[in-house]
Amino acid sequence: MNLLLTGRFGDAERDQWRALLTQAMPKHHLVTSGELFDRMRIEVAIVANPAPHSLDGLPRLRLIQSLWAGVDRLFDDPTLPPDVPIARMVDPALTAAMSETALWAVLSLHRGFFVYQRQQRNAVWRQLPQRRADELPVTLLGLGTLGLACARALAQQGYRVTAWTRDGSPRDVPAGVVHVHGDDALWPCLNGTAIVVNLLPLTPATRGLLDARFFGALPRGAALVNLARGAHVVEADLRAALGSGRLGHAVLDVFDSEPLDPKHPFWRHPKVTVLPHVAALTDPRSATAVVASNVRALAEGQPIAHLVDRTRGY
Ligand code: NAP
Repeated sequence: MNLLLTGRFGDAERDQWRALLTQAMPKHHLVTSGELFDRMRIEVAIVANPAPHSLDGLPRLRLIQSLWAGVDRLFDDPTLPPDVPIARMVDPALTAAMSETALWAVLSLHRGFFVYQRQQRNAVWRQLPQRRADELPVTLLGLGTLGLACARALAQQGYRVTAWTRDGSPRDVPAGVVHVHGDDALWPCLNGTAIVVNLLPLTPATRGLLDARFFGALPRGAALVNLARGAHVVEADLRAALGSGRLGHAVLDVFDSEPLDPKHPFWRHPKVTVLPHVAALTDPRSATAVVASNVRALAEGQPIAHLVDRTRGY
């Protein structure tokens, strides 16, 4: 089959993907968007936030395989072929990385390590009260591939986790995790929450969900860990909530506009921890096997794994 690799890569990153994908799929022919190729022949597009129009005019396209877990940027392209299945990246290495980040952030908030970091800068020796993990209710927004792994890791650590999802379809909820679903179920769990961890996909229903009303429903001093997408948060409302003390701290891995402007106030905000969108990176070494498996499934007429439901947007 003829495969097209297209996305917003640096040259070295693109070359690494090309080498690993070619090695994983020696029987197929891979081209990259920078070279001359016959658009009539492409059957699979392997994409990483491709520029708008990249997938237009590929009449034989049968699969769009994303290298990233989130596919919201794809839907911003009005020329996205409407009937071609889209698969997103689900890779155990990425899932493990997200659990590590969520656990680090929640542990650091719980034990006051961000406060101690601030204190060190000012040579302040002050001990905070030590709380047990089971004294900190954690609300997890989303219990999908990544949310589920994070819920499991947090519950194993002793946190009281409530996970919120869109629908109530049956699922294997980890021991110690309470599952709630639907719009009405969100608000009651927020008022007892110490830490909110966001792992929702960005869709029309979730964009801007974390706004003044959301922050106002949390107890004073609660913390936010946003590992999903910047546009879930209304930035002005977040800043106001941090300013008023409604929120005690925010760990932010994702932002409305990335990279975060060097002049952005979050960089120097004492109650904000900034990460440069690294909560869980796709690891090309393992992700190429995921792509190869889906290309093989397509070639053999088998079901494609991790398909996106276009009507839900994730
Ligand atoms: P997923 O498997 O698609 O799961 C999404 C979860 O969100 C599901 O539990 C879903 O509920 C829930 N959800 C969706 N819309 C909702 C709504 N309107 N109300 C309530 N719950 C809703 O996604 P995932 O693989 O866990 O990834 C989540 C997100 O993480 C990605 O979309 C991406 O934006 C982000 N991400 C960030 C990084 C990073 O480095 N920062 C890396 C990878 C991914 P149901 O279960 O009921 O469908």
